[in-house]
Amino acid sequence: MNQSAITAGQIRQGAPFLWVNPERQADFDPDLPLNIQHIRDADNRLRRFGPLLTQLFPELSDAGGLIESQLHPVPTLQAEIYPNLSGQLLIKGDHALPVAGSIKARGGIYEVLCHSEALALQHGILHDTNDDYLKLTSEPAKVLFSQYEVAVSSTGNLGLSIGIISAALGFKATVHMSVEAKEWKKTRLRNRGVKVIEHKDDYSAAVTAGRAESDANPNSYFVDDENSQQLFTGYAVAALRLQQQLSDADIKVDAEHPLFVYLPCGVGGAPGGIAYGLRLILGQHVHCFFAEPVEAPCVLVGMQAERSAEIESVYDFGLKVATEADGLAVSKASPWVCSLMRTLLDGVFTVDDDRLFEYLYQLQQHESISIEPSAAAGFTGPDILTATEDGKAYLLANQLSDKLDNSTHLLWTTGGLFVPEEEMFKFSTKGKQLLNL
Ligand SMILES: *Cc1c(COP(=O)(O)O)cnc(C)c1O
Repeated sequence: MNQSAITAGQIRQGAPFLWVNPERQADFDPDLPLNIQHIRDADNRLRRFGPLLTQLFPELSDAGGLIESQLHPVPTLQAEIYPNLSGQLLIKGDHALPVAGSIKARGGIYEVLCHSEALALQHGILHDTNDDYLKLTSEPAKVLFSQYEVAVSSTGNLGLSIGIISAALGFKATVHMSVEAKEWKKTRLRNRGVKVIEHKDDYSAAVTAGRAESDANPNSYFVDDENSQQLFTGYAVAALRLQQQLSDADIKVDAEHPLFVYLPCGVGGAPGGIAYGLRLILGQHVHCFFAEPVEAPCVLVGMQAERSAEIESVYDFGLKVATEADGLAVSKASPWVCSLMRTLLDGVFTVDDDRLFEYLYQLQQHESISIEPSAAAGFTGPDILTATEDGKAYLLANQLSDKLDNSTHLLWTTGGLFVPEEEMFKFSTKGKQLLNL
């Protein structure tokens, strides 16, 4: 059997496993579409919007209007849950990103800001990009934006991000929610005047329906999670920010100090943009792994396809997308993101739902950090790499086995800030029970 046939069998089994990308390359392919200047431009755009964002969202005032998360050491979690792990365990806390409460604050808000900037320049509200961006809250700007719609399809968190920023700027906002979207996310949006359309079908179907409806309205702008370069670039800015945080913490990334990054993955855009930025900015010694539910490993499936037109859905492997990780409940990956990841990604691993709740509980117990189930998908990563046969074979093949003492393992926690207390209590109770505690 060849490598891809083995993988097909493993995907079908619905049990956790590691897939190592045979096409990963050390050098960054110069033909890839985004370069460092694209990412710096995006960062500069976000900084231009800082004063405006502070005015719209006072919780950003300490950060000067930058939506950013902390890099945390988690020594107690590491000692209790990963006692045999060499190197240092860190968390990149996007679960606490302000305004949207998840990683979607990065790409989603960025894309709506791009759109509002373009409209404001086109209609003379802004003269140029050095103008005062507080003009976007003026009466003429509100009148302008109120004539336009921003629409998106989502399993929940992208809808929250796009809906919140679009409504705050005065756009009409429409969010198409797929079947797994949590009730509280819809309520939160409706309370801000966002139109929520509920679909009885999965995420891919909600995208098709949302895109068609938006395309029929010339004043509607559809945020396309599967194909948007702006969304992707907004996510990639995280790499610039992380580079600074690592340097502030005196953490090196080089041949002797590898960095392993574990990113929860749905359609691929958020982890893809971040991995892209990290490989571009930090280089070959950062090793990115995506984490997907055993029932929805769509990017793992997507990475197997020779040509992006041939990408299958997880249904073709007898899986059902039955997962409590609503942020990752996607049946078909973005072909565009899969093609960008071809030489950049180290691998993908899958995780059982039960483990998400266990880690969620343990993180709360040991570090007082609360996350949603999707955000725990990466937590099996350090053990998969260092304590399974497949992981050890990967480390050996890449000359990493003897570098582990100096390594850093980064768990990217991707959502949770706005989860209502009673929901969070249910999640952690479930984790505690699963652990027989
Ligand atoms: C959306 C989301 C992800 C994954 O992002 P994709 O762009 O769909 O791959 C991970 N975690 C959470 C909490 C999310 O909401």
